[in-house]
Amino acid sequence: MASDSAGVVTRFAPSPTGFLHIGGARTALFNWLYARHHGGKYLLRIEDTDRARSTEPAIAAIFDGLGWLGLEGDEPATFQFARSNRHAEVAHELLAKGAAYRCYLTPDELAERRAKAQAERRTFRIDSEWRDADPSSWPAEAPYVVRIKAPREGETTIEDEVQGRVTVANSELDDFVLLRSDGTPTYMLAVVVDDHDMGVTHVIRGDDHLNNAFRQIVILDAMGWQVPVYAHVPMILGADGAKLSKRHGAVGVDAYRDEMGMLPEAVFNYLLRLGWGHGDREEISREEAIELFDLAGVGKSPSRFDLKKLLNLNGHYIREADDARLASLVAPLIGPDADLALLTEAMPQLKLRAKDVHELAAGAAFLFKQRPLQMDEKAAALLTDDARALLARISARLSSESDWTVAALEANLKGFAEEQGLGLGKLAQPMRAALTGTTTSPGIFDVLALLGREEALARLDAQVEPADADHTA
Ligand code: GLU
Repeated sequence: MASDSAGVVTRFAPSPTGFLHIGGARTALFNWLYARHHGGKYLLRIEDTDRARSTEPAIAAIFDGLGWLGLEGDEPATFQFARSNRHAEVAHELLAKGAAYRCYLTPDELAERRAKAQAERRTFRIDSEWRDADPSSWPAEAPYVVRIKAPREGETTIEDEVQGRVTVANSELDDFVLLRSDGTPTYMLAVVVDDHDMGVTHVIRGDDHLNNAFRQIVILDAMGWQVPVYAHVPMILGADGAKLSKRHGAVGVDAYRDEMGMLPEAVFNYLLRLGWGHGDREEISREEAIELFDLAGVGKSPSRFDLKKLLNLNGHYIREADDARLASLVAPLIGPDADLALLTEAMPQLKLRAKDVHELAAGAAFLFKQRPLQMDEKAAALLTDDARALLARISARLSSESDWTVAALEANLKGFAEEQGLGLGKLAQPMRAALTGTTTSPGIFDVLALLGREEALARLDAQVEPADADHTA
């Protein structure tokens, strides 16, 4: 797995939680783009050391979300838990070098010291007498953890590509644990070893990991490994300024696809713009993003999630999308009656009015309704006796139309409206109600053409003499 490549290697390292978090998706996107822009490699690592949370479905959800956004890794994913032995091996190497030590302080002893520090209003620091103990004095049987010997003097500086220069006094770094008393590696160790072995050159991740970076550098230095370039990206906030979480609404990428009817290119574009900018450009394609992306454009302050902006972008990408593709997304929402060819034909009209796939489906529903159509409240109110009489005349007129195309139907009905001294709107309103059961739909000539002669006339006629009308009076 080791890589000597001088090229850029990035990675996305999610911990399975049951879904791909929208913030995680943005981290993945930035890593993917950075690698693509520099002609490098983008790798995935599943940090599955929390065995309770790392279920098959939780891991599958991450691949599913990444696949949908087109952010799969360039190589098969690395699974962190499977590499525990390698992590332990590095801890033992650090022990052998004298850069780490066995610490036999018991949890009780540590708690006591912590309490004492608190009582004396001192910051607690692990000050283990085992740090400089000679290995020959290590008890053979007693349980121990392996701790790193963190430097106590001087300071550590990170030239972060997003945060700028950040310096921490080494006295603030504890002798943190590398191996627990049961021999399992800690997260801090696993990340460093994996990044090194995967040849990662650029660590782009959430700024909640900035503090960890200083500890990770301690291990890197002790091993004599190259410190990667760091870029800690600010968190995403909800509209209220608090860290984006479930109470703001959907945070799983799957919900944006399934519940909100978003297209992946819209989510891709939105996540790109969330925290990264290129002038005031809003709509940026995948190819352009690869060309333009760099870490210099990532802002230092957190951005707020703006659902309205995302919906607008989604509307834009729906209008741009291929009709047959949209039809295949809409069909399952309509059910077994859906006809792909008809949906595709209707799509140029439907997509003008929809911001998400569910709105497309709602707009398409009239095509597949069964007669007699259920009228919504507004449509029912339009169908007065006068309107029904008018529909009878329209039906009679259209039944002799031999050319059932948008252009011919338009010419025909415009002529009819003129003869009757009526505006076209007066005709269209009751027709739309009769043909769709609603008061919003594509243009009325398109509706007629899409339904076809037989179905359109039958729907008009059904309202001329409603089946449930009482004719005995
Ligand atoms: N697994 C960590 C997380 O999901 C990321 C670790 C890293 O990027 O270094 O927050």
